[in-house]
Amino acid sequence: MTIPDLTRQLPEAPVLPAMSRQPAAVPRPRGAYSAETARQDFPVLHRTVNGHPLVWLDNGATTQKPRQVIEALAAYYGTANSNIHRGAHTMAREATEAYEAGRAAVARFLGAPDPASIVFVRGTTEAVNLVAQSWGQDNLGPGDDILVPVLEHHSNIVPWQMVAGRTRARVVPVPLTPEGEIDRFAYEDLLSSRTRLVALSHASNVLGTVPPVREMTALAHRYGAKVLVDGAQAVAHFPVDVTELDADFYAFSGHKLFAPTGIGALYAKPEVLADMRPWQGGGNMIDSVDFGLTTFAPVPHRMEAGTGNIGGVIGLLAALDWLGSFDRDAVTAYEEGLMAYARQAMATVPGLELVGAAPERIAVLTFTLAGHDPAAVADWLDRDGIAIRAGHHCAQPALAHYGLESAARASLALYNTSEEVDRLVASLHRLQQTSG
Ligand code: PMP
Repeated sequence: MTIPDLTRQLPEAPVLPAMSRQPAAVPRPRGAYSAETARQDFPVLHRTVNGHPLVWLDNGATTQKPRQVIEALAAYYGTANSNIHRGAHTMAREATEAYEAGRAAVARFLGAPDPASIVFVRGTTEAVNLVAQSWGQDNLGPGDDILVPVLEHHSNIVPWQMVAGRTRARVVPVPLTPEGEIDRFAYEDLLSSRTRLVALSHASNVLGTVPPVREMTALAHRYGAKVLVDGAQAVAHFPVDVTELDADFYAFSGHKLFAPTGIGALYAKPEVLADMRPWQGGGNMIDSVDFGLTTFAPVPHRMEAGTGNIGGVIGLLAALDWLGSFDRDAVTAYEEGLMAYARQAMATVPGLELVGAAPERIAVLTFTLAGHDPAAVADWLDRDGIAIRAGHHCAQPALAHYGLESAARASLALYNTSEEVDRLVASLHRLQQTSG
């Protein structure tokens, strides 16, 4: 494996102030999207695996990083590394400026009204745990309901079970239809004055389903319930506007959005966030500390104890910049076309069954193959340089809905092509021929 020599590309002057002024990326012509052009930005997509050019179809687990993100990280650590929010010197000020520019960029990306409504976290999992432990602990009590659709990722189930255990609230599963949509009638029946929270994903990582989040949120609000939206799988596939959704909380992970691991964001409505107690104590989150009385910094800093992932924010900023250089609607249209192509092509493989058939969906293709364990399918494809995932996908209840414990999953991103889909399908055909 060859790792590009990034030191040769380092700028001579510190990059941070320039980055924080934005926009760094040159906008591409509207309406024109070329996956081939996008691919040129990804060094890793040009490697081989087991002697074959890599086909990366494990984007639901994590996306690859464009060189703009890799270079931003290298430039930050190579020319500008500093802790933030401690204004002692020039580099601390530059790093702080870039970090806060990252916050403003996330707010713009999500359509949030105010950068102060954005809390940096490690990722979606940490965001949900933050809300469960802070808002949940203070606002849930015996007899309260938390509605959680059956298609949720474990990270949007388990934190609610944990806080429900402590507060004696109940986690109530919202059933699915045979197609893998949230059963709308059951949802309406389950909503009541006891409902305090609805926790639902904007796109399922295993079924691909995109639920009608805006309508479901409006219904929940009629009962005075808050709504948390897990955007982990949504943000890389279609534009998101939290104001239009009217979500109370929205969470995503940078690493599923072409940014580094270890950084993500939680949006919370300003009036909700303002009332939330800190969930972790430490440096950076206080106003003053005294053994008699400690007071806290305003939000969002109150929610960000300790040194944050500054490099991660710089990388996220670069990723948002990179993504923002495309016409997002054209990207979504491209992915939809590719998904339709992939679904048709995969259906030609004998014994292949796609799991989930919701009409509103992202390009997640979960499947079973008659006669083969999903792990064996992933292993076979890996020998052809094709990376997919097999297992329970951290969504055991969603698979159980189909009577499955495990399945294979190919998940597409904007840089995948129909030629790559052809390679997947050809390899699956060969597997069936070899074993038939
Ligand atoms: N929610 C969904 C829908 C996901 O797909 C994932 C990651 N697979 C998560 C939450 C958790 O994300 P992370 O591991 O980045 O915290």
